Amino acid sequence: MEDMSTLPKSIQNLINEFSKLPGIGPKTASRLAFYLLRQSKVDTEVFAQAISNLQKNIIYCDVCYNMSETNPCKICADAHRNHNLICIVEDALDVVAMDQIQSFNGVYHVLGGVISPLDGVGPEKLKIAELFKRLESPDPKEIILATNPSLEGEATAMYITKQLKDKNLTHIKITRLARGLPQGADLEYADESTLSRALEGRQEF
Ligand SMILES: [Zn+2]
Repeated sequence: MEDMSTLPKSIQNLINEFSKLPGIGPKTASRLAFYLLRQSKVDTEVFAQAISNLQKNIIYCDVCYNMSETNPCKICADAHRNHNLICIVEDALDVVAMDQIQSFNGVYHVLGGVISPLDGVGPEKLKIAELFKRLESPDPKEIILATNPSLEGEATAMYITKQLKDKNLTHIKITRLARGLPQGADLEYADESTLSRALEGRQEF
């Protein structure tokens, strides 16, 4: 890391912190730090407060493992939703993307990533056991596998399907979002109509 030792320590500290963010190099980190320095005291206070509230107020819903400020989260607590239609996604941003779809009134299960042996992520690091626990009740359910159409996303969908079949949970219908999504695309960047079509055209997996 670039050490601009002539800088006051509090600026250097902030530059160091910004540099730890993904995609931010030392140059951008310095630009951001100097930008904040030029803002009003109130604005920087608001910014600092937003960062410090992040860890303080965010918890994970015990039902779907989405980020929330309440437990269960607003979606799981919503009686108007169909709790037997569970959309399985990788992360919280995918919930945001899927929830733009007006016609979807189900609930979610957030895995917290995908199976990726190269990154040392096995199924035990994801909320998969929690998913199976959730599916134990005998009412008929449909789960929509909405992991991204990437190699890891497909492998994760296959893994979950195989486990469900092995457990003989025949009251569960398994579907996968249709191929409307381009290969390798990220759900969170898909627009509403693309996602809506992918949802409508979902097929049994
Ligand atoms: Zn929830």
